Amino acid sequence: GAKILPQAAHGIRRDQIDDCALKTCETLAQAGYKGYLVGGAVRDLLLGKTPKDFDVATDATPEEVRRLFRRSRIIGRRFQIVHVMCGRVTIEVTTFRSNGQKETEDENERPTDEHGRLLSDNVFGNMADDAARRDFTINALYYDPLSEEVHDYFGGVADCKKRVLRMIGDPETRFREDPVRMLRAARFAAKLDFHIDPDTRRPVATLAPLLANIPRARIFDEALKLLMSGHALRGVHQLRAEGLHHGMLPLLDTILDDSIGERFITAALKTTDARIAQDKPASPAFLFGTLLWPQVLQRWRELEAAGEKPQPALFIAMDEVLDAQRGQLAIPRRYDGMIKEIWALQPRFEQRGGQRPYRLLEHPRFRAAYDFLLLRAESGEVDAELGDWWTRFQDVDDDERVAMLLADS
Ligand code: ATP
Ligand code: MG
Repeated sequence: GAKILPQAAHGIRRDQIDDCALKTCETLAQAGYKGYLVGGAVRDLLLGKTPKDFDVATDATPEEVRRLFRRSRIIGRRFQIVHVMCGRVTIEVTTFRSNGQKETEDENERPTDEHGRLLSDNVFGNMADDAARRDFTINALYYDPLSEEVHDYFGGVADCKKRVLRMIGDPETRFREDPVRMLRAARFAAKLDFHIDPDTRRPVATLAPLLANIPRARIFDEALKLLMSGHALRGVHQLRAEGLHHGMLPLLDTILDDSIGERFITAALKTTDARIAQDKPASPAFLFGTLLWPQVLQRWRELEAAGEKPQPALFIAMDEVLDAQRGQLAIPRRYDGMIKEIWALQPRFEQRGGQRPYRLLEHPRFRAAYDFLLLRAESGEVDAELGDWWTRFQDVDDDERVAMLLADS
């Protein structure tokens, strides 16, 4: 059974919780159902962080939940969840599920593939089942806003205090059920600055190749979460330390072997982390553009060396690199347009005479392309002077701009 902690033992206050989430739990309770905050939100509150979204777990079926809330809809087919909307906030309400384990514990009845991957997790269960099918102890905490109690089945509160990431159940089995949990381990360790429990960590080195069986789109989603977590630099190093980067970001291998590549990526990840820390928008396309740039650069130089003119060489290199990565990371095509624009503008920063710099300033992607140029300057790929020139050119008045142009042409 669960350990039940009163408010004084966990310290979470109701006023830290989104009104819509509170309301959702209250409405469920009034109708005779259970309604708990669960997962990342409870964990983040315990750690003194502000949750970015609130998930609710309940014993009501999706259909029952939908009937309780006028502004709600069922999403997903195989595995249904209900979105409850109040104002601009959406709360995800999930019915308690189990891991699909039958009472008999008969191995043959568990729907897994030959590597142990769980093929179906769409079986309703009770609250204890629901806790057991979650990944880490710190992600299996349930907060009841009415009694203000936390239900802790696996010692997640203690692990939060110790800053330990620990798998629920037998780590090897759980990683085989869903290899993406390995990436999640790396992501949470980096994001929360937690230590991965040795028993949880041990199987990862051998099981990492199982990521090859996972649909690329899911890997991409996980990569995006890691890179946009605000701790991308630490996350990428964590992936590498666990030997997981082959499965997630195969391109990291080649990049980090080269010192300019390493400096460039480090600068890019730091910039992204800093922007997220300041609540500034960070664009995935920009970040993927930086991750792929070392390959583009290499191919661009090879094509030029083979006699191609610079601009066409760049365009050929861009297409080749974007096509090649589709078999690996599968960056969705919707990002291609912006990635290409940022890359294609790079040679234009070298042209500092006549009207050209003015036209470049007017380009809708100027800002992103200029940020990208600064990363190239920081890593030593282009002269720092070029980055400085463009920084100054934006700052100064018209007369000085003219003087800058003359000085250079
Ligand atoms: P974040 O703050 O990054 O959103 P989170 O803990 O909310 O962290 P989600 O991916 O939103 O993570 O998942 C919500 C919850 O669902 C998790 O806390 C965990 O309990 C459960 N969960 C998600 N993915 C898995 C998985 N692959 N295996 C087991 N449980 C999972
Ligand atoms: Mg979440």
